[in-house]
Amino acid sequence: MAELEGFEFGKSDFVLLDEVTMEQFLDNLKLRFEQGRIYTFIGEVVVSVNPYRQMDIYGKEMIDAYRGRELYENPPHLYAVADAAYKAMKRRAKDTCIVISGESGAGKTEASKYIMQYIAAITNPSQRAEVESVKNVLLKSNCVLEAFGNAKTNRNDNSSRFGKYMDINFNFNGDPTGGHINNYLLEKSRVVQQQEGERNFHSFYQLLRGGSEELLKSLHLKKDPIEYCYTRQGASISVASSDERSSYKAVMAALKVIGFGEEEISSIYKILSTILHLGNLQFESDGESVQVVGGDSVQHISELTASEPESVNKALLFRTVATGGGEVIAKGHSEQEASYGRDAFAKALYERLFAWIVGRINSVIEVKNYNPALHGKNTVIGVLDIYGFEIFENNSFEQFCINYCNEKLQQLFIELILRQEQEEYHREGITWQHIDYFNNQIIVDLVEQPHKGIISVLDEACLTAGKVTDTVCLDSMNQKLGQHPHYTSRKLCPTDKTMEFNRHFRIRHYAGDVTYSVEGFLDKNKDPLFQDFKRLMYNSSDPVLKEMWPDGQMSITEVTKRPLTAATLFKNSIISLVDRLACKEPYYVRCVKPNEVKSPMLFDEARCQHQVAYLGLLENVRVRRAGFAYRQPYERFLQRYKMTCEYTWPNHLMASDREAVEAIVVQHGFEGDVAYGQTKLFVPDASLSLHSGAGESRTHPHSRPLPPEGVARGPGADALQTDEGHLRHHGLL
Ligand code: ADP
Ligand code: MG
Repeated sequence: MAELEGFEFGKSDFVLLDEVTMEQFLDNLKLRFEQGRIYTFIGEVVVSVNPYRQMDIYGKEMIDAYRGRELYENPPHLYAVADAAYKAMKRRAKDTCIVISGESGAGKTEASKYIMQYIAAITNPSQRAEVESVKNVLLKSNCVLEAFGNAKTNRNDNSSRFGKYMDINFNFNGDPTGGHINNYLLEKSRVVQQQEGERNFHSFYQLLRGGSEELLKSLHLKKDPIEYCYTRQGASISVASSDERSSYKAVMAALKVIGFGEEEISSIYKILSTILHLGNLQFESDGESVQVVGGDSVQHISELTASEPESVNKALLFRTVATGGGEVIAKGHSEQEASYGRDAFAKALYERLFAWIVGRINSVIEVKNYNPALHGKNTVIGVLDIYGFEIFENNSFEQFCINYCNEKLQQLFIELILRQEQEEYHREGITWQHIDYFNNQIIVDLVEQPHKGIISVLDEACLTAGKVTDTVCLDSMNQKLGQHPHYTSRKLCPTDKTMEFNRHFRIRHYAGDVTYSVEGFLDKNKDPLFQDFKRLMYNSSDPVLKEMWPDGQMSITEVTKRPLTAATLFKNSIISLVDRLACKEPYYVRCVKPNEVKSPMLFDEARCQHQVAYLGLLENVRVRRAGFAYRQPYERFLQRYKMTCEYTWPNHLMASDREAVEAIVVQHGFEGDVAYGQTKLFVPDASLSLHSGAGESRTHPHSRPLPPEGVARGPGADALQTDEGHLRHHGLL
């Protein structure tokens, strides 16, 4: 059971700090972490510190303790936010979303799973079969997505290498009726190459180490990942809690629960095998023509992809080009081109497999036959678990995209939590002390501004005919962005030896400086794949594989339109994500990574301070403390509470709604607390009134105080929340 916490656990809401300073914030965070209290509120925001150990706080009892309760009735927990988002959705038919942010390894994905488990646990009390099955698919999809989309990195043994936004749809009963997963930028370069100390996607090792001998034989695979170029480097790297055999079984089981057919599952494993075989192909020139070296690999690939061996061979060694005269010829690759083509093909196979899996899950869980007239409003809770800010030894195009995405999400946070709040007070004419915060729009612009930003420079370089190299592109960025306060490079700052000429540029992100190596940027942005591979796959007689390659239909003469670049596609997807989030009522989980060594004991103060600073948590506390948590237009307030006051029931005779509202407020004895805006009544933060006397002490002369923290609540405690207490804490919503 969730008990109220004692003083020895520090302040359960940062709003209650005696002073809002970094020092006090960190002291409280550290104390709580060391005492095993990994969650702390800032109002409705939950700050979470990765415990790096199994916590006994997610059981059924705990779920029951949070279910249907108000946010401040229990100690901080993910379940409290999940319940708040669920209640808002159910009571007020609001679309809500839970945005989980934090750097790689901070605990976002774990948090998203606990939140989904909570929502699954509290819904569908009547156990209706179709709702149960939707819940099951939603939960099982995590297992599959992690197998194919996660990998061991130097930051996290189970790092999500894609972004995930999942909508869960609810009917008027508040039961889940379906869902939809959006995936963002899978880091497909990992398929062919990994950084020192890292592995390929889990799926490959699970297949090799977990697949039955019979299966492996049919796929022409050997058991040991060391046999394959693409998995060799990661073969000897052990992963905490990795038991590839049981993971493999779990994924198989999950695929079946979701509804993947035998044929489909078999195609999935054939594609993984094709990729492994592709990686072992080499190319050799005898001076005249290039040949494939690699034993029976071509044969295996043709079998696994249900294609002719000659066609496979041809696609690997030639590309079809249209000549000026409209003729079509086969042009032989150089060894280098052939290797490049092979890797591009392997990456594309994996990326399309992943997208297909997500699409297939969506086809199962999408809401079918929903009739709003019949079923009432369909509402949504979105859960966003997207890659956190990343700084590696070597930062490439993927880190650039990921960090840009985090800039966008920070914008959204600022927009929703900080700026809107302040602007509303201003609009409503309520006295308000402005709180300064760093607005990172300037960095977002640096990346995405049309004609000026980094993405547009990259795209221009990709569109230019002829040889444009990464360094030429860097020069062009230097020229265009040299004046920008958040951009620098060695050329612009020759004395800074931490960057190399013609190789590095640095962005001063809101979360810190990141030095990017421009090498490979253009290629990853252009992301070319010879049409011959697409056609080869489209012509496969494996229907599942064929389905993944509809664009293989086109002949070379039809392929004229330039496809959008990877950066632009990513930018567009993130912009639409932000739009989707912005129209929902947001709830935030801000994850903090306590140390770099995955230790349950160590609270690395410098690292934590850095995260607290860039996540804007102090500003968040300040805005929260200065602010009013709840507000209600006068008219709606009256509708709801006019029966509680003799002057307003059934109709008031006062000059304005505002005066009528004042009458109700006075009658209930909390006129000292509220503020009257132009159109709305503002009520202070419930957590402040709950713990009156603490922090920036506000006094509530007329209200009965609730028990302070540390006083366990007996059975009768709830009675304290009746009448005006209830109105105060919840009713004014
Ligand atoms: P992120 O998604 O932010 O990169 P993860 O959620 O994958 O990070 O967490 C990284 C690792 O930290 C997990 O694999 C797990 O070992 C540990 N971890 C994170 N959150 C918790 C938690 N609430 N309880 C126990 N361990 C956790
Ligand atoms: Mg993750």
